[in-house]
Amino acid sequence: MGEPTKIIYFDHAATSWPKPPVVPEAMVQAMSIAGGNPDRGAHTLALAAGRTIAHARGELAGLLGIPDERDLAFMPGCTAALNLVLKGALKHGDRVVVVSAEHNAVVRPLFALGSRGVKVARVPVDPEGNVDAEEVERAVASASTRMVICQHASNVTGAIQPIADLADIAHEHGAVMVSDGAQAAGHLPVDCAALGVDAYAIAGHKGLLGPQGIGALYLAPGFSPVELLQGGGGVSIKVLQPEERPDRYEAGTPNTPAIAGLGAAAAFVRAQSAALMDRERELTRRLHEGLLDIPALRVLGPALDVPRAPLVSVAHERISADEIAFALDSRFGIAVRAGLHCSPWTHAALGTLESGAVRFGLGWGLDEAAVDYALDAMREICSQQ
Ligand code: PMP
Repeated sequence: MGEPTKIIYFDHAATSWPKPPVVPEAMVQAMSIAGGNPDRGAHTLALAAGRTIAHARGELAGLLGIPDERDLAFMPGCTAALNLVLKGALKHGDRVVVVSAEHNAVVRPLFALGSRGVKVARVPVDPEGNVDAEEVERAVASASTRMVICQHASNVTGAIQPIADLADIAHEHGAVMVSDGAQAAGHLPVDCAALGVDAYAIAGHKGLLGPQGIGALYLAPGFSPVELLQGGGGVSIKVLQPEERPDRYEAGTPNTPAIAGLGAAAAFVRAQSAALMDRERELTRRLHEGLLDIPALRVLGPALDVPRAPLVSVAHERISADEIAFALDSRFGIAVRAGLHCSPWTHAALGTLESGAVRFGLGWGLDEAAVDYALDAMREICSQQ
């Protein structure tokens, strides 16, 4: 391998890069000095692996406002966490109210459940991607609903949804509240207990700055979907999956190196979360403001003064999203994501299903100079048509 190419990375909403050095360091340490199989043996390396995981769980629970860390189970990612909640909690005849801005990590399992008799009611979002809590209330109350599901922040518009209000509505009508926190955790203050959610699914590799292939699922006490996997650990003589948390939801050998990386990342974010979030907010605003001034370019999502997750998507009247992304990469070394971002429902609501959009995802490692460079590049690309 030669020298790494200089990349101005604006694809944090897909996955964050680079990672703080403590993250790969913790992963290497986990493989070298804590390389045993946790909870499967009492030798030094197995115990060290167990401690690594306990430490990571504590850091993540602390960051996300989870009072009892046993309510947080590690998962291979946010998609896996959402599949567990949906498939483990919903059965034939159940009705789910879902907000029409969800990622396909929610939509596809819901459609798969449709063939098993689960009924799905969609609540629209407005052209900026926001859901109206009153519309959710009407949808929940009109028939008996088992679950309400809504992402905390959109991966297309950055819109932040009123999760605590939706949780109140769900509970008033005897339903559980599930939220997809993939774009919120690490980028916005998240307090699962204060939000009142019954389940909150987390991606480790985005705003939390952890490695790929690791995430987590918070399940409130009292909400216990059926686990999807059994076996691979626990007390050997027993034939039944342990009932206690988190073991019930963590079948098989865990990905200790990835969990160690996520633990270090969570500690890093936790130690400076206010500063990190302020900075991301400022950079997002700077980018948003600059993009608003480019002719024929539509900035999607909430208005400039409305809080949003640190991402800005744009659609040009004449130049396709793919062309813009290609020009940004090939001519300016800027990485973005073009297309529908796994969320055709959102693009349908925004009227961008045909064109798609170019998404700038902001995060750790970016600065004002990078934002200004991206704005100059966009001005140049858009002026050539
Ligand atoms: N939900 C949203 C809103 C996302 O943006 C993503 C990542 N693209 C996911 C779920 C899936 O997360 P993971 O990659 O951890 O499975």
